Amino acid sequence: MIMKYVLDTAYLSSHLCIRPVSNGDSRSLNNMNNSIYFTKILKPLFTVAVIAGMATTANAQQSVSNPLAQSGYYHMGLGDFEIIALSDGTIPQELDKLLTNTTPQEINKLVANNYQQSTVEVSVNAYLIKTKDRLILVDAGTAELYGPTLGHLSESIKRAGYSPEQVDVVLITHIHTDHTGGLMDGNRLVFPNATVYISKVEADFWLSPENYKKAAEGMKKYFVEATTKVGPYMNAGKVKTYTYGHELFPGITPIASPGHTPGHSFYAVESKGQKIVFWGDIIHSSAVQFPDPAVTIVYDIDPKAAAASRKKAFAEAAKEGYWVAGDHLSFPGIGHVRTEKDGNGYRWVPINYSTYSLGQ
Ligand SMILES: [Zn+2]
Repeated sequence: MIMKYVLDTAYLSSHLCIRPVSNGDSRSLNNMNNSIYFTKILKPLFTVAVIAGMATTANAQQSVSNPLAQSGYYHMGLGDFEIIALSDGTIPQELDKLLTNTTPQEINKLVANNYQQSTVEVSVNAYLIKTKDRLILVDAGTAELYGPTLGHLSESIKRAGYSPEQVDVVLITHIHTDHTGGLMDGNRLVFPNATVYISKVEADFWLSPENYKKAAEGMKKYFVEATTKVGPYMNAGKVKTYTYGHELFPGITPIASPGHTPGHSFYAVESKGQKIVFWGDIIHSSAVQFPDPAVTIVYDIDPKAAAASRKKAFAEAAKEGYWVAGDHLSFPGIGHVRTEKDGNGYRWVPINYSTYSLGQ
């Protein structure tokens, strides 16, 4: 889960203008106008953010579509499979307001170790698995729900050489709408030929009218969004729920990882002795949660269980040395986990860039 963030002049001027300008004052918006980077890429977003900031309805914030400024896809081979990381975009997140079971001092120290600030652009990733006979998507991005810097998944799928209509299967890690929002574009099924797989526990939790009624006022909107985005696939008979302990497809097995949501699931994918585990939302900040896996986030429905799932996942990934992929790890979000020698938590080792898709 992520927090919607309305871009504003302060954020753009202090965080996003990364091109040096002529007189060296990168914080001046007037000077930023001299930058090609600002004019071509950020100005359209900036203009919309100002309009959105003045508007009184949330819908006004959703009326933007700018092309993703980066390539948006990355290929990696895994045995007989091909894994393609896909970017839905990024969104600034205020870690000092969102992370829990920690202190602002600890957050500031750990982000500084990574040359970041406490407000950081967080990736929203999804992944394609190309097997011999299926095109399988892991998670589905945000669509219009989180503003103009996100909602690029379909565009990234096309840039990678595929179309959403070609997707046969969508595996959902959990029903938060930064992972399921992109299933629908208005009333249109974005993946009309796909069957959507969700753990039974997760589907039962989010699609239950009783749970909606019981939910705190601030949570109700997430139940409504879940129904809006997953409901149409359910109604069309295109959702399959599963229990754990068996493969869904050859080499592809869901694993229970509860806490962030009750039915949160990993997907372990193996081919020819190589393995990757898709992690969903077990981690939101590599700078903070690898060194300190006990740090939780406000969206964890059961923070204690979420931290326990995270510790178990980190320990296993470090011990076994397999690939992992996280929806909110910096794009492409694929890499390995290493235990720090001094016993201070874990370290993220991002994938080595490879034009041959080898990943080594
Ligand atoms: Zn998320």
